Amino acid sequence: MAENKRDYYEVLGVEKGASAEEIKKAYRKNAMKYHPDRNPGDKEAEEKFKELGEAYEVLSDEDKRARYDQFGFAGVDPNYGGGGGFEGGFGGFGDFGDLGDIFGSFFGGGRSRSSSQNAPRRGENVGVRLELTFEEAAFGCEKEVAAQRIENCAACKGTGSADGAVETCSQCRGSGQVRTVQNFMGMQMQSTATCPQCSGRGKIVKNPCNTCRGKGKVRRTQRIKVKVPAGVDAGQSVRVRNEGCVGANGGPNGDLLVEISIRRHPIFERRDMDVFCEVPISFTQAALGAEIEVPTLDGKTAFEIPEGTQTGRQFTIAGKGIPQVNNPRRRGNHYFVVTVETPTKLSKEQKELLRKLDDSLDGKSTPKKKKFFENLKDFFD
Ligand SMILES: [Zn+2]
Ligand SMILES: [Zn+2]
Repeated sequence: MAENKRDYYEVLGVEKGASAEEIKKAYRKNAMKYHPDRNPGDKEAEEKFKELGEAYEVLSDEDKRARYDQFGFAGVDPNYGGGGGFEGGFGGFGDFGDLGDIFGSFFGGGRSRSSSQNAPRRGENVGVRLELTFEEAAFGCEKEVAAQRIENCAACKGTGSADGAVETCSQCRGSGQVRTVQNFMGMQMQSTATCPQCSGRGKIVKNPCNTCRGKGKVRRTQRIKVKVPAGVDAGQSVRVRNEGCVGANGGPNGDLLVEISIRRHPIFERRDMDVFCEVPISFTQAALGAEIEVPTLDGKTAFEIPEGTQTGRQFTIAGKGIPQVNNPRRRGNHYFVVTVETPTKLSKEQKELLRKLDDSLDGKSTPKKKKFFENLKDFFD
């Protein structure tokens, strides 16, 4: 609501008399800080970013700034106090204009309203999800995803015209905008509005295409190849440039953003670039030491466990973990924890052997047990 809005100068952190250059600088600095690309999933940053866009949209425009200075929000916000009459609502993210493509790459500049509707605009980004196996994520893969996006209509090649005849709008002479003079609180105010004859397109199609009903664009589901880099982790997105929605009026296409999820693996677990697993070993292997086979991403790896290995002990195989994204020669580690399996379903003879073994053991073989019971004695005496 308008009532809860912060003062635009306060939002940008500049003085009331700030120069256009100062305003632009302040906007650029703050927008970099709160840009959604830098703060993924952060709602507060997103709100701040929107607020900044709105403040900048008004304060960077001499005309709007003057109205805002004189009348506050009522001077620039059509939803405020029912005064109405100014060009459209706030698009939300403002016009990034010459601020470079770090902004354009995320929002496509598609919401800008201060430029006319027939100016080139970048297409929207399209998001899809992709589930990978543990190995696919670790080593990379090529996949196909189905993306729903807006494309140029193939039947009319995006012109919207069945016969190719497209005329320049006579009312706005192709600009898509017309000037209007309005009366606001006793003042004559000039503003521009979308041309009513061509709805801002600047062009008139006499004989509209049947396939797209004259829009020139259609929504289609397209299968698109995605190259997933080795080492990608759950929650990360792979960007496929130019495979989003088609741009308008010759503007570039948006991007396809593929959000990765990873299926659970039956034995491996992943933490960043490291892989963890559990390996059961026999009682005898634990006591005598043994060469065991450890499953890793690269297959079975021989590993020498020392004699007297206790259950729960962790071993490291360096460099057998997950590759680093964009630097696959660097890899995390493989960690495994051994669990000593107590033998079950023993025959009479086997039990006899174990009893003999146990009789032969003294405190030197099982120092932990010995100490534990010694401590217990002190405790209860
Ligand atoms: Zn068409
Ligand atoms: Zn027109």
